[in-house]
Amino acid sequence: MFDNANKLEKITSLAKRRGFVFSGSDIYGGFVGSYDYGPYGVELANNIKKTWWKRIVNEEVNIVGLDSAIVTHPKVWEASGHVDGFSDPLVECKECNTRSRADHLLEEIGVEADEKMSVVDLNALFSKNKGDIKCPKCGQSNFGQVSNFNLLVKTNLGNFSDDWAGEPAYLRGETCQGIYINFKNVLDTTRVKVPFGIAQIGKAFRNEIAPRQYIFRKREFEQMEMQMFVTPESEMDTYEDWKKKRWQFYLDLGFKEENIRWQNHKNLVFYARAATDIEYNFPFGFKELEGVHARGDYDLTAHQEATGVSLEYLDPTTNEKYIPHVVEASVGVDRTFLAVLTEFYDEDELGGETRTVMRFPRELAPIKVAVFPLLRNKPELVEKAKEVFTIVSKHMRAEFDDNGNVGKRYRRQDEIGTPHCVTIDFDTLGENPEHLDTVTVRDRDTGEQERVKIEGLVEYLQG
Ligand code: ATP
Repeated sequence: MFDNANKLEKITSLAKRRGFVFSGSDIYGGFVGSYDYGPYGVELANNIKKTWWKRIVNEEVNIVGLDSAIVTHPKVWEASGHVDGFSDPLVECKECNTRSRADHLLEEIGVEADEKMSVVDLNALFSKNKGDIKCPKCGQSNFGQVSNFNLLVKTNLGNFSDDWAGEPAYLRGETCQGIYINFKNVLDTTRVKVPFGIAQIGKAFRNEIAPRQYIFRKREFEQMEMQMFVTPESEMDTYEDWKKKRWQFYLDLGFKEENIRWQNHKNLVFYARAATDIEYNFPFGFKELEGVHARGDYDLTAHQEATGVSLEYLDPTTNEKYIPHVVEASVGVDRTFLAVLTEFYDEDELGGETRTVMRFPRELAPIKVAVFPLLRNKPELVEKAKEVFTIVSKHMRAEFDDNGNVGKRYRRQDEIGTPHCVTIDFDTLGENPEHLDTVTVRDRDTGEQERVKIEGLVEYLQG
């Protein structure tokens, strides 16, 4: 066990040092709110997405997948309400012109601003507390008025004329609109019947005024969203059901139950029947990881009204026609990534030495096995180790390493969370005939080693 202080610093420095996360545009001095996933980061992110997809799409009988476009017809975002209503409260420092989120500045002095507060009320609350609030950049307390700032990212993709002054297109602010506008396509082309779901993983973009807390709040991020289309009568049961499923998902990943909690929305948007968040205990406190929402028939109705295309469902047994209600579970890949780093970061003592170890569950670990020749200057060991690498790498993400000594290689693999390290030594080659064609397998968590036959190695590693 270790001291929890500076956990975010420890995680970010490990993530950078070991090639999980780099600051975006690093050699240009960085670009606010942008991060790049490095060689181990991309593996971890892919494994997070695979685990989610497997649980949501593969293991449910009535959920299908989708990959919709990032740039859609601009009217999609008018109909969804994002063009008019998707905004954050912004306040500008009159001394240094830094723009901040008014609700975040209030939060920092312990004043909770209601999520659904009007800009007028928020302005009043901000003014009341003005004296205590300091600009995060220059430290002064001289602010302008609070105003709303739209989060949609505009683009001129597809508009080629120089004097074009028409409607902008938008990069999607959430992936679920792509699901709603394909509801009819999916219904018409597959065998799904209500209740059924559509799931999608993909990038979303928001012009966050103040991206912060590392990869927690980015401008370009990735979402994993599942929308269930159900009868109006079963909406609330489906909602309760999905709350249970999503909670269990985190427990099955190995999260400690004390690190997640529910946070019901205090004020529901007018169309929602129920809404709650799963919050995770990030190094900066409990914050939203995932939202589970019962959205009524708001989204499909809005798109039906905007397009004139019927999005009603005809029940084949009762012949009843209705617009299905929606229950959604929506989570960010980047926030899950940060939760996973936080949850599985550990420091302990092994063989009298302190080490840092990422205790990732095997399904999330970027590298499942590392293969080492005991010595790099013995060609017969290197050759045999490469043979073993070829065998295991057909079944799992593996890494070959002959740098430095074995102790150093272990430390490195512990830091990237590799569950097993395999070493090829002289016994493997038959120096001890009893051990011919066996290797030592070292367990990341206990440090214990076992001799395993190469023949059964893949099976052993797959546990
Ligand atoms: P927040 O209140 O933190 O801004 P939100 O309620 O606006 O989040 P949703 O619109 O419900 O978020 O989006 C669903 C999920 O997408 C969130 O639970 C979160 O995991 C992720 N997400 C939203 N905004 C961002 C962002 N700027 N950076 C990274 N992930 C995000």
